[in-house]
Amino acid sequence: MSEPQISEQGALVLFSGGQDSTACLAWALERYARVETVGFDYGQRHAVELEARRAVRRRIAEAFPAWAARLGPDHELDLTAFGAIGETALTADRAIEVTERGLPSTFVPGRNLVFLTYAAALADRRGLKALVGGMCETDYSGYPDCRRDTLDAMQSALNLGMEQDFRIETPLMRLTKAQTWALAKALGGEALVAITVEDSHTCYLGDRTPHDWGKGCGACPACELRARGWAEWTAAGQAALAS
Ligand code: ZN
Repeated sequence: MSEPQISEQGALVLFSGGQDSTACLAWALERYARVETVGFDYGQRHAVELEARRAVRRRIAEAFPAWAARLGPDHELDLTAFGAIGETALTADRAIEVTERGLPSTFVPGRNLVFLTYAAALADRRGLKALVGGMCETDYSGYPDCRRDTLDAMQSALNLGMEQDFRIETPLMRLTKAQTWALAKALGGEALVAITVEDSHTCYLGDRTPHDWGKGCGACPACELRARGWAEWTAAGQAALAS
């Protein structure tokens, strides 16, 4: 992977502490002189996700001094009122299944739209121009607010409504989960892969049982996706799938 140009503009990474947003954070730290992170507490079932955010940030700063110099403050925003409306499998005690609309019950209606609105308001105040998110169309097509079309429309709405020139950047949009592992390796080598495995959190059930692909229950859709991506990547000899 060639050395990208460092932009003097700042970036705000939507950072949940999962595998995807950990890769996005490293991607932004490689490109922007100033990177801040934002996380949203919308009544997730498990505080473990918020703990993962802090651990990943801390370990990235320890392992990568050049990135540590660019890593600015973290912001945690309380969106529990929004979570109360969502009432899906992530925030309430509902089974993880496919609903009558053909959407996974883990889909929180409008979640990314709300997150991006809050992120843009924060980025405006902080003087940051890029909004970086781990939205992805490839492996998980069930989430309509992860589609690039949705995000293009959102970017237009935010820029019109806030008199801004934000860019919503989605480095994982076309990557498979195996390619996201390859991207982590390309950006931060074994150290970033180890941080992702040991400290990031993706499991819907908040389980922290260790596996070679990371910690989780091993059975929920998020764990299955993550484990399958890891298996595919390691079977390919951890080759650079992300071209
Ligand atoms: Zn799980």
